[in-house]
Amino acid sequence: MPLDFLTLMAVMAANLFMISASLPLIMGPGVSTAARHVQASMLLQAVAWAAIIAAGTWWDQALSTVSVACNALAQWMLYRALREWLGERPLQSLLLALVVITPLGYTLAFDHYAWRVGWANLLMSAILLIVARATLYPAHYADPRWRRLLMACLVTSAAFTLARGLLGAFTDQYPSFRTPHPVNLAAAVATNVSLVLGTVAVLVAWRAEAEQKLRALAMTDGLTGVLNRRGFNKQAENMLSHAWRHHLPLTALVLDLDYFKQINDTHGHETGDRALKLFARLLEETCRTGDLVGRLGGEEFGVLLLHNSAPAGIAFDQRLRNRLQTLSMAELGFGLDYSAGMAVLLPAETRLPDLMARADAALYLAKAQGRGRMVEA
Ligand code: GH3
Ligand code: MG
Ligand code: MG
Repeated sequence: MPLDFLTLMAVMAANLFMISASLPLIMGPGVSTAARHVQASMLLQAVAWAAIIAAGTWWDQALSTVSVACNALAQWMLYRALREWLGERPLQSLLLALVVITPLGYTLAFDHYAWRVGWANLLMSAILLIVARATLYPAHYADPRWRRLLMACLVTSAAFTLARGLLGAFTDQYPSFRTPHPVNLAAAVATNVSLVLGTVAVLVAWRAEAEQKLRALAMTDGLTGVLNRRGFNKQAENMLSHAWRHHLPLTALVLDLDYFKQINDTHGHETGDRALKLFARLLEETCRTGDLVGRLGGEEFGVLLLHNSAPAGIAFDQRLRNRLQTLSMAELGFGLDYSAGMAVLLPAETRLPDLMARADAALYLAKAQGRGRMVEA
């Protein structure tokens, strides 16, 4: 069966338009910035292919330039989505420069066939390779499967684009982009396949993002924004294993606001909520990065200080108590205080519940001794 290049291109443009029309419908409103960038990328690719087909009939230079510009911009959008999903990505400035100069050089060199074809395709393959590189080495854990699939699609497209660029720039066996040259036909088939598989990859990435958000939500306390009991316990277990592996000191604090029921009764539940938010905020501000804060329930909070033993725990308590005194007067109009129990990880202690139980027992003692103080287990 002979393959007609123009039909292949038209099918691809139609597919891209259908995908870019259906993605917003599937994803619904209020999706993430990354998903919006993917949608924009698909739409730009669709416009790029439609423009190159139309350029065969009308305004060749203008529409061909629009096509090159949209293709480059589509890759920039994909790169932005990857940045949202995987953290800061390398070669951003270079990519942006290429996205600008590729269509510019193409249109300036439009009358010199070898120049414009060589320029656009060689630079476009560099753009594709930079985006392919951006799928590697995520800043935090991200499923490698969709990243590998997307990278394979991008590298394949880059290889064919490079081949077109080399043929166009350095040989005369490649008279036009629309001629049924074997490289053109193979490129059209490969681009179609890359398009389908690339769409699958970004849909999986989008699902992984949604899952990650749900997981984070399930671990977060809705009122204060700190970890909830479940999230605290999960991360505390990791921290304990880390402390054990590296022989690091670890200190646990359990803190409970004093006479909180009375605060609710006197000032209202809403003020009680504000007091909880203030306390959580101060806990986070008093901590160092790497420490852990969680709301264990009601008006009880847990803190884990890594690399620290008793003196640091005592200093933490003093800093927190001073700041709470000042800021509760300023922000709530009355003084807020708490009791705390502190337990330093023992050489033989391997279980988190044991450590927390000792801190809890110390908290109980602090309450019994008159509140507004910290007791060490
Ligand atoms: P103690 O000094 O012994 O800790 O006394 P307390 O009053 O702080 O302790 P108690 O356990 O008797 O009361 C805790 C109160 O915390 C009761 C509950 O209504 C209130 N509380 C729990 N969760 C919330 C919340 O999310 N918002 C508000 N406003 N209050 C809460
Ligand atoms: Mg209390
Ligand atoms: Mg309590």
